[in-house]
Amino acid sequence: SQEVRLAQRPQGRPDASTWQLATAEVPEPGPGEFVVRVELVSLDPAMRGWLNDARSYIPPVGIGEVMRAFAAGEVVASQNEDFAVGDAVSGTFGVREHALSDGEGVTKLDLGVAPMATWLGALGMPGMTAYFGLEDVGRAQPGETVLVSAAAGAVGSVVAQLAKAKGCRVIGVAGGPDKVAWLRELGLDEVIDRKEGDLLRQVRRAAPDGVDVYFDNVGGELLDAALASLARGARIAICGAISTYNDETLAEGPRRYMALLVFRARMQGFLVMDYLDRYPEGIAAISRLIQQDRLVATETVLEGGVAGFPDALLGLFDGVNTGKLLLKV
Ligand code: NDP
Repeated sequence: SQEVRLAQRPQGRPDASTWQLATAEVPEPGPGEFVVRVELVSLDPAMRGWLNDARSYIPPVGIGEVMRAFAAGEVVASQNEDFAVGDAVSGTFGVREHALSDGEGVTKLDLGVAPMATWLGALGMPGMTAYFGLEDVGRAQPGETVLVSAAAGAVGSVVAQLAKAKGCRVIGVAGGPDKVAWLRELGLDEVIDRKEGDLLRQVRRAAPDGVDVYFDNVGGELLDAALASLARGARIAICGAISTYNDETLAEGPRRYMALLVFRARMQGFLVMDYLDRYPEGIAAISRLIQQDRLVATETVLEGGVAGFPDALLGLFDGVNTGKLLLKV
């Protein structure tokens, strides 16, 4: 059974020297345990943070340990009465072909509601991030202008569609003409191609009356452009800052933070795991919209097995994905 271990901590962008492909015995379940044959590994920007030896919301992955990853698969052997052979499950199984589990933090997936891939995307952690970030942190209201970055990605594409479904005016930012066209098809009111540059001018043109909610997935220059374009009482939900995750030195801070004062605005970070108790509410809301054809759940599935993990992870930073990025095992 193959697995990917952390060989050494990367400086900047991870590369081949960061990882070690290894072979382990297929585990046997002991009492209370079961074995999952992993089918899909989730690629998450947060993984880059888990490689740094720094104080964070979760300990870093240790050198020599299997890389931490959300994943989904099928139970193939079980001595746990709550999980039967054939069950579809998701959990933090790691970048490996077979995972041993005691059921802690494992969710059973109803494949009658949605395919496994969607349970890692719009109905999984990214979808919950979108829902609670928009509802609880952004507090988007009908009629308001919502700006969302990495809008064609896993979290962003759900944010954009939830905001549309709420009756907001939605401006998305994505990289490249294909993603721009896709977001227009989804019904966004304005789409900005970040690769065309001059973000400040583009955001101001798209939001002449100002931005009420900025759902920030990327940080950096776009955060400054959003700060420079706020409406009075605006909320900025700090979800992530992927544009900075591979930086070797800290970037300059948001230069325009005084806009928070001028526009009586608020900027707040959040972590989806704090909303675990409320996942059923988020899943119900998003699955209802999917059933009503008002929200499209999209995934980009890369081939290559666990050996393809190092390249697949970099795909997030190169923007290869539309919707949720997954690796097929
Ligand atoms: P995505 O599916 O959005 O993939 C990442 C996307 O980021 C790429 O497709 C690319 O899209 C964009 N991107 C990459 N590099 C840059 C750059 N330098 N500048 C601007 N955009 C860039 O990933 P997720 O939806 O999984 O995650 C989105 C964000 O949400 C991340 O910041 C992540 O850390 C955060 N997150 C936070 C959680 C929380 O609890 N707070 C939970 C889950 C995710 P394009 O080229 O189209 O711009």
